[in-house]
Amino acid sequence: MSELIDPFGRRIEYLRISVTDRCDLRCKYCIPEGFTDFEEPDNWLSFDEMERLVRLFARLGLKRVRLTGGEPLLRRNVSELAGRIAAVPGIEDLSLSTNATQLEKHAVALKAAGVSRLNVSLDSLRPERVERINGRPVLDKILAGIAAAKEAGFAPIKINMVALEGDNDDEIDAMVAWCMEQGFILRLIENMPMGDTGRKVRYLDLQPVKEQIRQRFGLVETVLPGGGPARYLGTPDGRFTVGFITPISQHFCATCNRVRLTVDGVLHLCLGQEDRFDLRSLLRSGATDDDIVRTILNAVAKKPERHEFREQPQKLVRFMSMTGG
Ligand code: SAM
Repeated sequence: MSELIDPFGRRIEYLRISVTDRCDLRCKYCIPEGFTDFEEPDNWLSFDEMERLVRLFARLGLKRVRLTGGEPLLRRNVSELAGRIAAVPGIEDLSLSTNATQLEKHAVALKAAGVSRLNVSLDSLRPERVERINGRPVLDKILAGIAAAKEAGFAPIKINMVALEGDNDDEIDAMVAWCMEQGFILRLIENMPMGDTGRKVRYLDLQPVKEQIRQRFGLVETVLPGGGPARYLGTPDGRFTVGFITPISQHFCATCNRVRLTVDGVLHLCLGQEDRFDLRSLLRSGATDDDIVRTILNAVAKKPERHEFREQPQKLVRFMSMTGG
């Protein structure tokens, strides 16, 4: 069997699928306010097409899938898709990233469908800040969604906070304390210069923040199995962990194990590079499974070594939700 190993010896076993590029929020570092140029529904991959691709990837050794977007819970019947993907032989882990505004009504169905892990984006615990950073007054809905997910049995829930200088950097301690109390894993994320929106906000270097949090909360270096690119600190008893995702101050491209599929069927090999393979045209032109497998292998053989967010911050016109975060 051929395998998904790129020219740098990295084994690709993780696919992120954007199930929609639409979102009900307008986070200031992501979708521009007033943006309307979303993908046409005719171009959205159907559930059959997504499932077929996952089956073919799984034949090549794919083990993990994450559903993302845009906001994945805006795609109608997303739980049905989750169930179909969770049932693909070889897929050991299905997760989902959400802003949680719609999670209250979906949590039970997602859990039943086989979603094993949830990441929730939450940049502030203050209502007026959520409105300013995320573009809509939705903190209550998000908290209700998180509570419903907890109730549905998702554990541990990961909270993703993009740390922005001048916007929420003074709230990091409060977020650590809240996640500790609630039993959530916190992940602090450095903003990436993706699109004009990603370039407009002020990036916060998380290295000094990590040291401050270590001292303030008495944390130690921790390894979280399956924890991805984050570096973790935790309480000595292991009950709380906080991860630092530092694509800018200390990138982790050498261990990158993922590729991304957009809602219109484009395979991206790197979040920060332009390399792309159009799988939708293949799917819709009667390609055989072998044709598609060959294209996937060919794509992985061209996976770039690393992003260049630091060296070339102007390079990327795509903002995050266009690729799938
Ligand atoms: N709507 C879902 C959510 O909120 O998790 C999934 C898609 S969203 C694009 C995925 C993640 O990307 C979110 O945690 C968001 O904060 C993050 N994100 C968006 N733009 C970013 C940027 N420029 N730099 C770093 N993270 C970004």
